[in-house]
Amino acid sequence: MRIDILTLFPEIFAPLFASIPARAQEKGLVEIHLHNLRQWGIGRHRQVDDGPYGGGPGMVLLAEPLFNATDAIEAQGGPMRTLLTSPQGPRLNQETVFRLAKEPRLLLVCGHYEGLDERYRDAKVDEEFSIGDYVISGGELAAMVLADALIRVQPGAIDAESVRQDSFAEGLLDHPHYSRPAEIRGLRVPEVLLGGNHAAIEKWRRQQALQRTRDRRPDLIKDS
Ligand code: SAH
Repeated sequence: MRIDILTLFPEIFAPLFASIPARAQEKGLVEIHLHNLRQWGIGRHRQVDDGPYGGGPGMVLLAEPLFNATDAIEAQGGPMRTLLTSPQGPRLNQETVFRLAKEPRLLLVCGHYEGLDERYRDAKVDEEFSIGDYVISGGELAAMVLADALIRVQPGAIDAESVRQDSFAEGLLDHPHYSRPAEIRGLRVPEVLLGGNHAAIEKWRRQQALQRTRDRRPDLIKDS
């Protein structure tokens, strides 16, 4: 898939070029294109924001650079779905990640300051998403969260079995994990994991996943 990101701060996005996301790009599973909104700024000063009509604090991203940038980015490739980072959108969850991961092309638009001119949202934004009920300074971190989550579930990015096991993939939290040594500071790995009985291990893991979900996130069980 192709992910375009429209931002005033492309330099913030280094995490999308390390670790699993970097490998996924090397393997050709995903392409990430960063676009600096400033490029479409107005006038000699490449203005991208101004004070709000009606007065009040803060700056608003101007509609014109956003419209022009979106049209130019769309023209660079096939049709795309435009997503706006916003604390007012529906909260992102794994189900949405799986749905969006099937799109051939997404544009993630990063707001900043007080937000952006509502007319851009009305005319160009297909969908909004929030990373939680709190406000962060700009949409960059939110866009990175979604992009990373999308990359992780691209077939071939990581082991398919890990994706299936991950928390939320099948409505449960993941089971606990252990590695060597079998004992440290008096703490032992659960015996069943050392025994090599795969059916017993599977059963234990399933029980643990269920128990944790009941203890920590009963809402996940009620919802399903
Ligand atoms: N005044 C706005 C918040 C502006 S914060 C309001 O109260 O709705 C500036 C930008 O950061 C937003 O435009 C959005 O792009 C991003 N942002 C802030 N919190 C976010 C969240 N929880 N999820 C996704 N994006 C967020």
